[in-house]
Amino acid sequence: MKYVLVFVVLALAFWMWRKNRSPGAAPHDERVSGGTQMHRSNAPPQLMVTCAHCGLHLPQAEAVTGQRAVYCSLAHRQKEEA
Ligand SMILES: [Zn+2]
Repeated sequence: MKYVLVFVVLALAFWMWRKNRSPGAAPHDERVSGGTQMHRSNAPPQLMVTCAHCGLHLPQAEAVTGQRAVYCSLAHRQKEEA
């Protein structure tokens, strides 16, 4: 029982030590434009739009703009605006 108490105190101290360390160093302030995404990214904060036909969320750069709304593809634009 005594060892359990010691372990808990040590764990608590370690947790507080880690908590005090983290706020200074932000995890990822740089490297916003990582190369892992498959689509081309003109601007890192991508504005997401919703296809008016199927409801798909996609970056505005890849959306097809119609007369009344935006769509995920030319086919969905033609179906909606035909
Ligand atoms: Zn669609």
